[in-house]
Amino acid sequence: MLASVLESDIESVVKGADKVDYFVIGSGTAGVTSALELAKGGFNVVIIEAGPFITANHVGTSPFRSQPEIVPKIHGLVKYETAWVPEESFNCRDTNPYVSNNTAWSLVGGRTVFWGGCAPRFIDSDFDHWPFNYKEFAPYYDEAEEMIHVSGTAPTRPPFIRSDWQTLAMERLNRSGFKAMHAPVSVDTNNVANGYISQGFDSSVARLLRSGRLVQFGEKQGVSLVANTCVTKIDGENGKVTKLHLLQPSDGKRYEITPKNVILACGGIQSTRLVMSSGLEKDNDVVGKYIGDHIFVQGLMRLKKPLGLPLYILIHATQKMPFQVQIQGSFEADWYSPYHSTVWLDHQSNGLNVLFYCFGIATVEKNNRVALLEDMGCKRGGASNYCVIYDRSEQDKLLIKQMMDSMPEIAKQLDAEVIRIQENPPGSALHEIGGLRMGDDPNTSITDQYGRFWRYKNLYAADSSTWRNQGAANPYLTITACALRMARKLVAEKRASLSVSS
Ligand SMILES: Cc1cc2nc3c(=O)[nH]c(=O)nc-3n(C[C@H](O)[C@H](O)[C@H](O)COP(=O)(O)OP(=O)(O)OC[C@H]3O[C@@H](n4cnc5c(N)ncnc54)[C@H](O)[C@@H]3O)c2cc1C
Repeated sequence: MLASVLESDIESVVKGADKVDYFVIGSGTAGVTSALELAKGGFNVVIIEAGPFITANHVGTSPFRSQPEIVPKIHGLVKYETAWVPEESFNCRDTNPYVSNNTAWSLVGGRTVFWGGCAPRFIDSDFDHWPFNYKEFAPYYDEAEEMIHVSGTAPTRPPFIRSDWQTLAMERLNRSGFKAMHAPVSVDTNNVANGYISQGFDSSVARLLRSGRLVQFGEKQGVSLVANTCVTKIDGENGKVTKLHLLQPSDGKRYEITPKNVILACGGIQSTRLVMSSGLEKDNDVVGKYIGDHIFVQGLMRLKKPLGLPLYILIHATQKMPFQVQIQGSFEADWYSPYHSTVWLDHQSNGLNVLFYCFGIATVEKNNRVALLEDMGCKRGGASNYCVIYDRSEQDKLLIKQMMDSMPEIAKQLDAEVIRIQENPPGSALHEIGGLRMGDDPNTSITDQYGRFWRYKNLYAADSSTWRNQGAANPYLTITACALRMARKLVAEKRASLSVSS
């Protein structure tokens, strides 16, 4: 029902495709941020989203947030299986290398409907191998933080957790050499007053709906949304993308569109998979390679006595300590699952459990790559039809040990002890990068620094598929700021061309 008001009909979009300046594939933060910025710059934009519209808001800002029975069922509506496997088992014919061990999500809003909200920046040195530096990028961070309400990073956005215990714990950690700060959580902490109602967690779907730029196709200039429609293939010829092939899985109907411009925002791995399965860069030695994810160490501390107050601290990475730690408590719950990502909002004053998640900077290896299953004579079908082949480097193994060894000291500063700690497998951090890496040299990269393909002048990637490496910080804020930067560049180019022609 709501869909009939918010979504546009695919058939009218196909008929009027010549009036669309940009087709954006995917409605997560990369897609919606770039679509809204392009619309603000005067372009007509259509977002094509494979998944359904299920909610207008992040689950943490919905009445379901404290419902541990319901939230996993909502995930169940829109998640699908994928796989990250080591080279050894991928090559082994005796075992099935394609057994799913990883999850992906497909819905209007993408993962932004479920994400945990932790939104720190990368540090200067994280940009050492990027074609631009921190200083140049910082204004986009400022804007993105304002747009997604990152709390605690400006005087106008107070920290999410404001307890004496939080202050004390940060002081203790800082005294013992850790760089502790209020966790920068993307939750609107402005007071509800004078007609203002806090907007809760950032989610791209809520941002799109609130923007006032969502229109039904043909109504007026803005962003239109076509949901439940998958882009199955992109054709390219003579340095241009020439056709998008679309499928509506519900009825098997297929459509074709001749686009002016296309922006990939399918999530790092899916943008790469779509390029590869379309054969767009088939003789390119770089495509699909240099895939990465954070090293993810997760654990549980037990407090000596209840805090009575909530705690959510982030320990920043430094060049000497190339990993970040999120510390949240206190709870009666004793483990984090991605299907309960917002459970921690309900701090329990009697709880003795403090959860921690450490994200370490993995080395970036060319051989860590996306493999298409159809090339292997094996078919899982659709978006799941790939496998990431990934092996940890020796340096990664040393870092895992450093991460694990640091935790007892951190626990000591909180009057707690570590009672469980584990390394989660590659892919499980859900912070994937690479596959379509950017660079200054077309021989060793797929896109330029703005995500524009060297070989296809009307094709762009807005998500983390272009990243050459990542810092220890969670990626959402940097994805959002990169998408903003890319769209600004396209709008500036349009303005420049208009002023030349006038
Ligand atoms: C439970 C959970 C907790 C997380 N916590 C954090 C956190 O605290 N901090 C942080 O920074 N990050 C976190 N993340 C990761 C973060 O959510 C993602 O990095 C980010 O949202 C990715 O945004 P995106 O726009 O690139 O892709 P996505 O959000 O994945 O959106 C891509 C969209 O593209 C669509 N799509 C894909 N292929 C096609 C196609 N062929 N045709 C049409 N549509 C297509 C998909 O259906 C999807 O909706 C978390 C993720 C999860 C799941």
